[in-house]
Amino acid sequence: MDKNKNEKMEAIVSLAKRRGFIYQGSEVYGGLSGTWDFGPLGVSLKRNIMNLWWKMFVQDREDMYGIDAAILMNQKVWKASGHVDTFTDPLVECNNCHSRLRADHLLKDFANDSHGLIHEEFSNTLESLKSNMDTFKPACPVCGKQDWSEPRTFNMMFKTHVGPVDDESSVSYLRPETAQGIFTNYKNVLDSFYPDLPFGLAQQGKAFRNEISPRDFIFRSREFEQMEIEYFIDPANWETEFNKWVGLVHDWTDALGLPAENVHELEVPEADRAHYSKRTIDFEFDFPIGREELLGLAYRTDFDLGNIQREAGKNMEYTVKGTNTKFIPHVIEPSFGVERAMMAVLSAAYTEDEVNGEKRVYLKLPEHLAPVKYAISPLLKNKPELVAKAREVYDILKKKHGNVMWDDNGNIGKRYRRQDEIGTPFCVVIDFETLEDEAVTIRDRDTTEQKRVKITDL
Ligand code: ATP
Repeated sequence: MDKNKNEKMEAIVSLAKRRGFIYQGSEVYGGLSGTWDFGPLGVSLKRNIMNLWWKMFVQDREDMYGIDAAILMNQKVWKASGHVDTFTDPLVECNNCHSRLRADHLLKDFANDSHGLIHEEFSNTLESLKSNMDTFKPACPVCGKQDWSEPRTFNMMFKTHVGPVDDESSVSYLRPETAQGIFTNYKNVLDSFYPDLPFGLAQQGKAFRNEISPRDFIFRSREFEQMEIEYFIDPANWETEFNKWVGLVHDWTDALGLPAENVHELEVPEADRAHYSKRTIDFEFDFPIGREELLGLAYRTDFDLGNIQREAGKNMEYTVKGTNTKFIPHVIEPSFGVERAMMAVLSAAYTEDEVNGEKRVYLKLPEHLAPVKYAISPLLKNKPELVAKAREVYDILKKKHGNVMWDDNGNIGKRYRRQDEIGTPFCVVIDFETLEDEAVTIRDRDTTEQKRVKITDL
């Protein structure tokens, strides 16, 4: 990774902390690796992203139903889904310092750092990881030695017990994906609404994975948020439906304000696909840490509903209305990560330029995602008549938009810089002229241009 990329990532992490977007989880106690807390602006940005998704994919569509399932589920869910047996990552241990790391990540970093190797050429099967670890012997990033244990599989689900008895029958897991809460409710929604095919169920919520080495800020966390859709289709149409979703995913990345040239489709080869998938496209984004997975789109066939039918002994078939045609619907699954969307949005928005010979940092956030849309300032905070007028304007805009901030700290220049850093598109200043002409100065974040606008026209 080149130095500039590293510097950009560090600048974003530092801004996110300083300005109240994202803090290390449990930081006062030394932190808890792989966990992050969202501060006042972070939670706003996160909600704006999640609400945008809900609006685009649930509210604005006729064929989509929202649900919100429990995080803890019957252990049979995870046995039937294959997660107990196969939801694993390849772990290797350094024989010198005993650091435990992901074999595929070590090889990928090795490929990125060295001469002409391309990480996509490495397959992630245990066998090929073992042979590549033996061939390339990457250095341990902690102690520098090149002495590794053989790769072995490590299950990433957090295990817990439900109820006061600690035995096998009480075992449960924190869900590693939200999808299973959708599949287990497919029949319920069918019974309540009986939608025509194709239709989708959508859910947002926490997912937990005991990642071997969480890293890269919020990109790889142990606790994160997913937004998933299971779109139930007639298997005869799977290719058409899959292609429609490819288009919808691009609409989504556009709505996030991500430049199209930084979003890439990676056709995942069969050997690397999840156990349930017949086709997968990983949508990758050029993050400052490199090109990495932003979200996934998978054709999951009837794998999950078929498993439920078999293991729970309940009929999962869909009867096409007015006919005797019955089949288990197949599923297209777009799976979005909230934190990765946030990190992409922050990376795309982070901008440095020069204003009046001074370096300026600002977040060029799309207006509909910015945590604060208007910052309202009286020119001088010790002039009661200005403060009173500014309060009036603040109240009007607050009622109308909600995400409005009062800012009277320091001089106007400092206020602009501060609002630029958190991505506020408009700063509104109330000065002595306002008292005469009922107009305010509005300053545009991106151009820094200032305009006089009547309060009634705001
Ligand atoms: P990766 O290969 O990067 O580990 P994955 O292929 O295992 O990701 P999926 O199981 O397809 O990820 O999960 C769907 C989405 O959930 C991902 O595209 C990503 O946006 C998000 N996601 C998955 N794991 C994490 C994590 N540990 N931290 C943050 N987001 C995650």
